[in-house]
Amino acid sequence: MNILVPNINHPGQKSLSLKVRRKVYAVRYPKYITMKTKKKKIIKTILLSLFIIVANFAPGQNEAIEIEFLGNCGLFMTDGNLKVYVDFPYKSGAYGYMTYRPGLVDSIHENSIFIFTHGHADHFNRKGFKQTNQKLYGPWPVSFFLSGKRKYKFFELNDKGQNFSITKFKTKHRLSLKHYSYLIEWNNKRIYISGDDESADTISTMDDLDLAFAPYWLLHNASERGIKIQTKQIILYHHPSVESIDNKGEKVIVPVQYQKFELE
Ligand SMILES: [Zn+2]
Repeated sequence: MNILVPNINHPGQKSLSLKVRRKVYAVRYPKYITMKTKKKKIIKTILLSLFIIVANFAPGQNEAIEIEFLGNCGLFMTDGNLKVYVDFPYKSGAYGYMTYRPGLVDSIHENSIFIFTHGHADHFNRKGFKQTNQKLYGPWPVSFFLSGKRKYKFFELNDKGQNFSITKFKTKHRLSLKHYSYLIEWNNKRIYISGDDESADTISTMDDLDLAFAPYWLLHNASERGIKIQTKQIILYHHPSVESIDNKGEKVIVPVQYQKFELE
């Protein structure tokens, strides 16, 4: 017990050691001592309950993930805690693909993670990063023009959240020296991002996916080769806004721009 014990010796008396003084004090003022102990116990209990409450409110493994389709392969995903952009900002309308509302870049969330599949303008716009301090990850030439402190090393992405991990796969896209597809495992959900991958080789090795994002040419390739994609749902993205696409089954969703999906 570490309480302040007043010096209860009379002047002139030989001073007693702290240990002895504590004993004397406890005998003289037993009520005071028990009150102190009780107070400590109460504080301990309050702190413990607070800790339990905070622990229960901390982001758990089963938080829902909300995904917004921004256009082309552009996505915004969040579980209310971590914020992730994929292939956004891109150059609006590049190569005849989707435009997006001009305010979208200005309303980008602070402290987000930016991941790119490759550096083509319909996926990545360097100018979109000029006015910000946001950090990004992507294969050359995505990060080529940025200073080192604005680039993530790949392993750093996996330190971002307790229930968040990402794996990259080197996949093929014409006229792109390097192209990555990604598997994101987040709050017990498995989300696969194809980007502009042209063959179903890599996606065919995935199993137990909750959601797969794939362009129509990849789905063509899969169906031509009789490959079944092991996923609960496919979102067919990177469709030019003018093109109409047949829904190839209930599993395939062709999203409208800014449509939101929730993975629970
Ligand atoms: Zn593209």
